Amino acid sequence: MNAISPQSAAFPGLVDSHCHLDFPDFDGKMAEIREEMRANGVTHALCISVNLAGFPKVLGLAEAHDNFLATVGVHPDHEDRTAVDRARLVELAHHPRVVAIGETGLDYYRVSGDLEWQRERFRAHIRAARECGKPLVIHTRQAAEDTLTIMREEGAGEVGGVMHCFTESQAVADAAMALGFHISFSGIVTFKNAGALKDVARQVPLERLLVETDSPYLAPVPHRGKINRPALVRHVAEEVARLRGISLSELAEDQGRCLPSKRFLSSSASAGSSFSNRSKTPLTSSR
Ligand SMILES: [Zn+2]
Ligand SMILES: [Zn+2]
Repeated sequence: MNAISPQSAAFPGLVDSHCHLDFPDFDGKMAEIREEMRANGVTHALCISVNLAGFPKVLGLAEAHDNFLATVGVHPDHEDRTAVDRARLVELAHHPRVVAIGETGLDYYRVSGDLEWQRERFRAHIRAARECGKPLVIHTRQAAEDTLTIMREEGAGEVGGVMHCFTESQAVADAAMALGFHISFSGIVTFKNAGALKDVARQVPLERLLVETDSPYLAPVPHRGKINRPALVRHVAEEVARLRGISLSELAEDQGRCLPSKRFLSSSASAGSSFSNRSKTPLTSSR
């Protein structure tokens, strides 16, 4: 183990792979948020879109700050059931600061009734991702089986991406990884009652493992119940490193390697270059 402090210039840098910095909780607080990231060795954050009306604000963050990147998509909980226009998604995704499509997926916990509209919306996102060659950010809650079925039917493996805020079993993680997807752990992995999830976090190969906050939700221990923010991804990463018996800097190093060299985040030239200065391996290494 060679433990490097997150304050050191030699620290590889952590990435918050999923946050919602466009939410009103953060209005007027960007300087403070970015300073807190810097103080905790968090070098990048991926700002995730939840509906098209909010997308300009998400994109604005990624345009204003070099180390913020954006996605475009309509969340499965967004109950305006108007069909998502695939062509529109593709058009918005062409922006160089947009590195992925999502978040999309299925959520049978928060919404109920006939959810065919949600499955159709998910399919439209996968088709858009394949059309523009960008990876997917997938949300799944109490719908793992249908999520995987649709991912297979629609050929999601062609673009890959990430299963965000992962809370499912090892079998679901294995099935998603077989399709080329990464597994991202949130603050939930720090919760005392998350024994089964901690086991999954020990098993997922490091090069497939990402960490996230899902800010403003799901603040990790010891900040549980507070408004979450990207700097706190350090606590998620520290817990995953502890579970695997490696140092925080070793975990961070593997994150830095995986982001540009794997399919996730690899399709945008600007994203590749923003990550590449700390990548130790060629960007063309196998996926
Ligand atoms: Zn989500
Ligand atoms: Zn989210």
